[in-house]
Amino acid sequence: MLGLMQDQPLLISSLIEFAERHHGDGEIVSRRVEGDIHRYTWADVARRSRQVASALDGENLLFSDRIATLAWNGYRHLELYYGVSGSGRVLHTINPRLHPEQIAWIANHAEDQILCFDLSFLPLVQAVHAKCATVKKWIALCDADKLPADSGIPGLVSYEAWIGDQPTDYAWPSFDENSASSMCYTSGTTGNPKAALYSHRSTILHAYAAALPDVMGLSARDSVLPVVPMFHVNAWGIPYSAALTGAKVVFPGPALDGKSVYELIEAEKVTYAAGVPTVWQMLLTHMKPAGLRFTTLKRTVIGGSACPPAMIHAFQQDYGVEVLHAWGMTEMSPLGTLCTLKNKHLSMSADAQDAIRLKQGRAIFGVDMKIVDGDGKELPWDGKAYGDLLVKGPWIVKEYFKAEGGNPLVPDAQGRGWFPTGDVATIDADGFLQITDRSKDVIKSGGEWISSIDIENIAVAHPAIAMAACIGVFHPKWDERPVVAVVKRPGAEVTREELLKFYEGKTAKWQIPDDVIFVEAIPIGATGKILKTKLREQLKGYKLPGL
Ligand code: AMP
Repeated sequence: MLGLMQDQPLLISSLIEFAERHHGDGEIVSRRVEGDIHRYTWADVARRSRQVASALDGENLLFSDRIATLAWNGYRHLELYYGVSGSGRVLHTINPRLHPEQIAWIANHAEDQILCFDLSFLPLVQAVHAKCATVKKWIALCDADKLPADSGIPGLVSYEAWIGDQPTDYAWPSFDENSASSMCYTSGTTGNPKAALYSHRSTILHAYAAALPDVMGLSARDSVLPVVPMFHVNAWGIPYSAALTGAKVVFPGPALDGKSVYELIEAEKVTYAAGVPTVWQMLLTHMKPAGLRFTTLKRTVIGGSACPPAMIHAFQQDYGVEVLHAWGMTEMSPLGTLCTLKNKHLSMSADAQDAIRLKQGRAIFGVDMKIVDGDGKELPWDGKAYGDLLVKGPWIVKEYFKAEGGNPLVPDAQGRGWFPTGDVATIDADGFLQITDRSKDVIKSGGEWISSIDIENIAVAHPAIAMAACIGVFHPKWDERPVVAVVKRPGAEVTREELLKFYEGKTAKWQIPDDVIFVEAIPIGATGKILKTKLREQLKGYKLPGL
């Protein structure tokens, strides 16, 4: 017997309809590429996304055709999120920080039909447009009078001219909730990039889950600043969960430096911010010497890579901002776990609570996780046993776009498929996950594993160190030994010996790095994460001391 509830597909268009009706006057504020501040409302987003949908209907496209963006976080990008997916096409957000060759490869692989870009990416588009064989229309996200006259891009139109005359009364179509809605290519450190292809259903379920109090906990009283880019995993779903809750949204545009982000937080009374540790490092570095304080910021989600303890301490104890450490991946839409305390933790000391916040947190309802050993045997949740982390759930990929890379899932005894995350983790008795490493970054020394994240966290806890990256280097007896590459804070001094001494008592003796390498900069990839592959290349000729 089936239930007797109404059969209504979960579609992205319903989010924007909801936001318009219930939070129509809720503000959307964007720092534009031009540098000025643009403000309007959820009702305006809804009206203009309908114009986008109408304009797309006039472009001779098929259902599920891909529409690409090369754009910062801003209101026009948000309109494309709704107009493209809502009308049955697939929004393909491209990471502009990728190499131009890779961008052209991705656009061809996705068979993008239209590509919309912020004018700051004009040189990039000029470099790649001739190689993007399937793109038949290029749209610059600008006013008609800002369109460059001699761009060299055939048929280039401005976004405002493209949607300007379109009717505003478009009726959103209804279709299967499992239809594709958007896609995002993974960073692809090995082999070709692979795309996660999200559906309307997976996106809505993820948006519901993200809004829960122990997840992102967004509400109609929040002013949320997604510093995490809309070109990478849908800005952690904030464009959707903000519409679902009616939160005010503040988009930082291209200005991600500490000063600009701080000014925006204060000016727009931001209560909630989300970003990767590198961005928050820039913010804290700007604030500390100037003695600045937050007046409205209450919570910040930090994820994408491990949040160093020093950063948790600074936000929590120096600034009174709650840190929500999150873990996820492109293939998971992206949220998997979020670190919020349980009732029993509330009586603990601030330091003990911070130690919990260092973990990546508890699984969100909808995400099943387990850790397994090399033979696929499930390991205990005791906070000590570490193994390969596998996940499953309705917003986790079952296959990549065009089946690139084959079937990624690992079947269990019941034949259910689990996605191998490539992360190594522990899970404690309370269900808190802690990522030890990427499986390819873990250092294997004499048969034991050393977490490169632990080694990096200790280094950045030293006042003279701004950034650290730990890699394993060949050793004839131990196979690998850890060395740590560090960038000093401007004007700060520390010697190799002092830093190695700093490790004593903070980790097991055999885990202390064999060497410290002082570098000017550590390579950062397109999504703000340390590029260990590149660092290994840079240190290719390096030999451990004494060898
Ligand atoms: P991406 O698909 O580019 O978002 O990268 C996902 C990967 O980033 C994960 O598999 C982890 O290795 C890493 N990652 C994400 N969040 C965290 C976190 N909070 N701590 C440690 N690693 C993380």
